[in-house]
Amino acid sequence: MSAARAPGPLPVDGSVVVVGASLAGLRAAQELRESGFTGSLVMVGDEGHYPYDRPPLSKQVLAGTWPPERTVLADRHRLEKLGIDHRLGHRAEALDAASRRVTLDDGTVLEADGVVVATGARPRRLRGTEMLEEVAVVRTLEDCERLRAAILGAGPGCRVVVVGAGFIGSEVAATCRGLGCVVTVLEALPTPLAPALGELVGGALGALHLHHDVELRTGVEVEGVRTRSSGWPYEVVLGDGEALPADVVVVGVGVVPNTEWLEGSGLEVADGVLCDAALFAADSVVCAGDLCRWSWRHLDDEQSVRIEHWEVASQMGSAAARSLLAGRGDAGGFDPVPYFWSDQYGLRIQVLGHPGPDDEVAVVDGSLDAPDARFVAVYGRRGRLSAAVAVSRPRQLMSFRPLLVSGATFDEAVALLEAGR
Ligand SMILES: Cc1cc2nc3c(=O)[nH]c(=O)nc-3n(C[C@H](O)[C@H](O)[C@H](O)COP(=O)(O)OP(=O)(O)OC[C@H]3O[C@@H](n4cnc5c(N)ncnc54)[C@H](O)[C@@H]3O)c2cc1C
Repeated sequence: MSAARAPGPLPVDGSVVVVGASLAGLRAAQELRESGFTGSLVMVGDEGHYPYDRPPLSKQVLAGTWPPERTVLADRHRLEKLGIDHRLGHRAEALDAASRRVTLDDGTVLEADGVVVATGARPRRLRGTEMLEEVAVVRTLEDCERLRAAILGAGPGCRVVVVGAGFIGSEVAATCRGLGCVVTVLEALPTPLAPALGELVGGALGALHLHHDVELRTGVEVEGVRTRSSGWPYEVVLGDGEALPADVVVVGVGVVPNTEWLEGSGLEVADGVLCDAALFAADSVVCAGDLCRWSWRHLDDEQSVRIEHWEVASQMGSAAARSLLAGRGDAGGFDPVPYFWSDQYGLRIQVLGHPGPDDEVAVVDGSLDAPDARFVAVYGRRGRLSAAVAVSRPRQLMSFRPLLVSGATFDEAVALLEAGR
């Protein structure tokens, strides 16, 4: 008996449904057209907006320096030019992966030759505050507008407590400080960002808060949030019973992939949708963006990875579309050099590659201790260069790209920078 063959290429005049009308879904749709796909292309999104960009929500839009309209990635005109039949304001409620049938909340059933799943992620809520809508998170335009209105409504010196010193929490803290708020950041870990960037660099980035008059408390447990019990709108209650008064509480404690609608779909879900190296979750069903957990051969290890960064979501959208067109039997693996940035206190933090918490770290330029912390650090794992992190050193950071692509050793990377100094 011969083994079952994976399906061949998607017909260029066939049909595709993209679920999720944000960065990864849009990039997939754009790539399909750029690669010559002329068939029917439907994009479904549960937000009532044209696809828009999220990074400015914790930065320029929250600060009030950009109007919300500036975040639009593709307006009606652009979508129509691409021949995308967009069903915005509609939630996909079910997928049958075998028949590639997507059921929408109004009962419409869309059937296609290929499906792109790009439904992203939503903020994890703080235990006990799930029902407290006023406890802010920042994921959508509405979240951002609500938070900005609350800050402006509280007036000068608005007291903000941010729970979580990850990238989003830190950006919100920095933006609020720029708006003149009195800001406290609470972090459960002893060192912010240590699981992503290690103790050394995580500590330096955490110190940025202190240098900008933001109180950072690490190793604290948040029990919950009380409303209107002390003359303040909120009190954030800590594990030891202390209660911190606040006008505004923002929670940034990570995200949860939007996979519930895939229950019973035939796709495997475990903190994201499990995909192969070419981003297939099933024959003719690919995933992209924050919800995708794909099998990545990186630094000689086969890992199952989910990355929640803009550049990766964008590249993955394009790669997923190319995979779908090529067919499961012929598609190549998705092998990015991940890139991520974060803007805080007028500094740009950039991460290239995939650092690990236990990687060897060498600071090759600048200093971690300076108040404005401009530096470049390189990361090594088992003798190989794994990542580079820079604060306001964009040119130096990008010089590591070819080294990461070619699989350079850690020593080569350090030597290169030292020679260039
Ligand atoms: C405030 C903020 C700041 C950020 N800043 C940075 C930064 O500085 N640098 C960086 O690298 N990254 C940043 N990111 C991360 C980056 O924006 C994300 O990685 C990116 O948005 C992921 O895109 P996505 O398309 O996978 O998912 P999403 O953007 O989450 O989009 C998924 C879409 O699918 C919709 N959806 C969900 N379920 C359904 C359903 N059942 N039916 C239909 N539609 C559905 C969602 O509502 C959403 O519109 C930031 C994110 C946020 C929230």
